[in-house]
Amino acid sequence: MDSVTGPLRSAASTVTADPLETPRPAFTLADAARIAASAFGISGDPAPLHSERDLNFRVAGPAGRVFLLKLHNPADDVNVIDMQTRALRHIGRVDPALPVTRVVPTLDGEAWQPVTGRDGRTSFARLFTFLPGHNPAARDLDDRALFEWGRVVARLGRALRGFYHPAAGYEIQWDIRRAASLRPRLTDIVDDARRALVTRVLDRFDANVGPVIDRLRAQVIHNDMSLGNVLVDDGCAITGITDFGDMTHTSLVCDLAVAIADVLDGREDALAMAVPMIAGYTSVTSLERQEAALLGDLVATRCATAVAITAWRRQGEQSEQGQPGELSSAADGAWRFLRLLDAEGLDRVGFLFSDAAGRGRGQGAGVCYRPVPTADLLRARRAVLGPATLSYDPPVHLVRGEGVWLFDPEGRRYLDAYNNVPVAGHGHPAVTDAIATQVHLLNTNTRYLHEAIVELAERLLATMPGHFDRVLLVNSGSEANDIAWRIARFVTGGRGAVVTRCAYHGVTHATTDLSPEEWPAGFAPEHVALAPAPDGYRGEHRRDEPGWEERYGADVATAAAELDTRGMRLAAMFVDSAFISDGILGPVPRYIRAAARAVHGAGGLFVADEVQAGFGRTGEHLWSFAPAGAGPDIVTLGKPMGNGFPVAAVVTRSDLADDFAERTGYFSTFGGNPVACAAGLAVLRVVQEGGLTANAAQVGAHLRGRLESLAERHRLVGDVRGWGLLAGIELVRDLQAREPAADAAKRAAGRLRERGILIGVTGPAGNVLKIRPPLVFERQHADLLAETLDEVLTELET
Ligand code: PMP
Repeated sequence: MDSVTGPLRSAASTVTADPLETPRPAFTLADAARIAASAFGISGDPAPLHSERDLNFRVAGPAGRVFLLKLHNPADDVNVIDMQTRALRHIGRVDPALPVTRVVPTLDGEAWQPVTGRDGRTSFARLFTFLPGHNPAARDLDDRALFEWGRVVARLGRALRGFYHPAAGYEIQWDIRRAASLRPRLTDIVDDARRALVTRVLDRFDANVGPVIDRLRAQVIHNDMSLGNVLVDDGCAITGITDFGDMTHTSLVCDLAVAIADVLDGREDALAMAVPMIAGYTSVTSLERQEAALLGDLVATRCATAVAITAWRRQGEQSEQGQPGELSSAADGAWRFLRLLDAEGLDRVGFLFSDAAGRGRGQGAGVCYRPVPTADLLRARRAVLGPATLSYDPPVHLVRGEGVWLFDPEGRRYLDAYNNVPVAGHGHPAVTDAIATQVHLLNTNTRYLHEAIVELAERLLATMPGHFDRVLLVNSGSEANDIAWRIARFVTGGRGAVVTRCAYHGVTHATTDLSPEEWPAGFAPEHVALAPAPDGYRGEHRRDEPGWEERYGADVATAAAELDTRGMRLAAMFVDSAFISDGILGPVPRYIRAAARAVHGAGGLFVADEVQAGFGRTGEHLWSFAPAGAGPDIVTLGKPMGNGFPVAAVVTRSDLADDFAERTGYFSTFGGNPVACAAGLAVLRVVQEGGLTANAAQVGAHLRGRLESLAERHRLVGDVRGWGLLAGIELVRDLQAREPAADAAKRAAGRLRERGILIGVTGPAGNVLKIRPPLVFERQHADLLAETLDEVLTELET
């Protein structure tokens, strides 16, 4: 902006005139040579350089050193010059590698020397080290150079973070935050189209930005990292940052907005090229969500400011010279960018920029992987990971999550109606902050005293029936079930287990044995007996039979007896409290009571596996076994417990756990570490204090209503089951015969994905649509899901 800008300051008591309206100082070349020699002891011949408002000279000094002599515009405020001087010193101290100029003191050790010009006005003479390089042309800057540009803007912001000066509060019109004060200048924009668009941008600013901008991070920023103020070498590496004349105390994000606007203006590819700049910036400094959300509007406002101020200055120029001058072209660049932004739609620009910044949030200074295009990534992944399962074909490549939304590298968003781990929503700030804070502070193991594990255990126990008084922390649901299995064997002396027919309880050797869903054909561990899950829709006992739940309970006794015939006593039965892999059968309290009775009768322990169904998922209660009242001896927790951070737990009684823990010397290196516990505490707080269980109940009821109405209209829908934000839709080929339609279920999930919604498929026959979104799901999301599913089912039925 150098060609059109300058500090338009007001309300500064020491400012007597506006430098933009004040003629340059009056010194000859000989005067400059004299000043260089007398004030700074430099005797080389000065060569004039371009400056619109000051007089600048290149001066050679001893030993090949080169300096810049600046004779300030007489209107420049001494306080502002002092601020710039101190800021340069501060940056030099804090980030010496940043290529900013150094202030060379006068022979008297001062930062400047007052000098009187031929017209009698006083100016300040200052000397700086001369920075190498040239100002780049916009077209020279490719993605890499723009990424670097963004990075340097962020570094400069970081370097200035701890800097303050009383003059930093001076009002300058180029501060985007003060855009509202441009209104009186709009009449200077002669062109109607320009005036209308600038007015619209300012209206948006007043509506969207003005009310919140004062809540954003603010500090002293450079505020003018434009093409004219940055020097580069032939490879476009930045060699110098000049002109601190627009430096001011304002919102930090304005620095990035200014750079985007001023570096990219006039380029046809400006919108796309903003992305690497944002990525570069956020590789050093993450943007907060609100900063990211406003970035598009801030860039537009900067362009509008340039158009308005230039029009105003051109008025002055015309009245002086009778014709438009060099200012026109600067405004044209800003105007072209503004038109591009408008054509794209400012809402969409806001989304694109915020998305780019969000990606940066994950690519912050500490992230150490390189982004790879989706197709290459699939190939690279297969080469090193082999045929490990991926959902969807082609698979979904995700780079970021926020609330109920997931984003791919192109910024396409998916409604997440599938992932139950992020109960609090993707990237919940309370959880990410808790994790980040704790990992900065300390992360070690449970052989040292630490508050977090105790508080987490206490808080968990407070949510459980009173007889539970022990918590063992581990790292995954599988481990929790593995430990539960060891405790059960240790305590009962039995070796046998009962699980439901399509249960899943984990990935370790012991828990794979307990997971018939994963058994390869012909595999059936002798110590495991299967009982039918309480499937009231297609199982042996149906919902319309009185006492059907208890009949399934009796099947548990039969399974335990079968173990006896194999010469084994029952150690435990494991039950997923919502029977998700058995087809999403939901909490069945009467079954749980009957099954627990049968298990206890056979001398075993009853393990409620809440790894998937816990933490409020089924609404009303935090734990899905809770409606059954008494029941489990051990409860295992996992998946949502850390909202994605690995943390899991075994909750049980001292009479079961203590002897085991002591005799086996139980210890887990990572289990219960302070970061995991911080995550667990944050999640528990968000779920409990954020009312997420109640939300699951309310939004879940709404969702179930919408899904049930689909059942009335679609012959593919055999059954709709839902508890809180857990829903299963059973697709069938024929409503009477209830023959499972696994193919349709798979295609439905695939088509929903194409329309930007993620769900899954489960059940023994693979025909149950699995819906278990983050618990921050809202009615509007439920509506979007139901309406899209309606379309998809219609397609599949025709
Ligand atoms: N139990 C249940 C009911 C589960 O759903 C899972 C995971 N799908 C596990 C245990 C195993 O948990 P993890 O994958 O964390 O080991």
